[in-house]
Amino acid sequence: MKILEKAPAKINLLLDVLRKRDDGYHEVEMVMTMVDLADRLEMQELPRDTIVISSQVGFIPLDEKNLAFQAARLIKDRYAVKQGVYIHLDKNIPVAAGLAGGSSDAAATLRGLNRLWKLGISTEELMRLGAELGSDVPFCIAGGTAIARGRGEQLEQIGAPPQCWVVLAKPPINVSTVEVYSKLRADRIVRHPSLPAMTEAIGAQSFERICSLLGNVLEDVTLSLYPEVHHLKSCMQKLGADGVLMSGSGPTVFGLVAKESKAARIYNGLRGFCKEVYAVRMLT
Ligand code: ATP
Repeated sequence: MKILEKAPAKINLLLDVLRKRDDGYHEVEMVMTMVDLADRLEMQELPRDTIVISSQVGFIPLDEKNLAFQAARLIKDRYAVKQGVYIHLDKNIPVAAGLAGGSSDAAATLRGLNRLWKLGISTEELMRLGAELGSDVPFCIAGGTAIARGRGEQLEQIGAPPQCWVVLAKPPINVSTVEVYSKLRADRIVRHPSLPAMTEAIGAQSFERICSLLGNVLEDVTLSLYPEVHHLKSCMQKLGADGVLMSGSGPTVFGLVAKESKAARIYNGLRGFCKEVYAVRMLT
């Protein structure tokens, strides 16, 4: 039997850091939602007790460093599954981009293997398992739109934002999440985005207010380290996106756009100098 699972990318409509905790982690407040840009995972049972990963892209690890591999091993260990699995990752989400591609693959693997091996694990339990793999994984299992607190693993589901186009562009650079967080001075953030205002704007389905309230406190750090990201953000603004923000720790920048014709114009304008550009729908 073959199981197919979609692993969509996430974007942060809001990312705030409240403080650095004594355990070294940052206390965050985020609003996360999913977009219709997804990896596709194919899972097939193997008679031998082994986990085999393949992908059409050559630049991601296929061994135990792959988050899908780690998810498969976790579920096999915890539920004493003796069969093995072959997982093919059809990667469409740019890698190391701030779009949680690896976390979403891990989430899709947990969901898929639960079905393949008929384990009957509840969504809540899958989310608890996912938290052991990474703080974005529980959100990727639940999907939808959510406020995330703590290290990002405490989730509160909220209604979806209004439907719109999302143009994503990733400059050809690698950003280290660890470096961005280490350079952030949580006690010196001048302007915190407002979570209550954003939650209210989403509840009221006000596209204009959502666009004006977009905020990510990691932007200043990444933009100062990588001028390319700053340039991309300015271009998207000049091309007329209704709201523009960097996702996660970057380097992907996304623009929210109400009109399809404008989304197409922005997409074409960016394609001239940026190779990785996507125009997709928000998943609502
Ligand atoms: P986040 O938004 O959670 O920080 P990201 O979008 O920045 O995630 P990923 O695409 O998840 O980053 O990749 C980060 C690193 O994880 C990559 O450099 C890659 O080597 C490794 N990795 C492990 N598993 C995967 C996977 N299934 N897909 C992509 N990268 C993976």
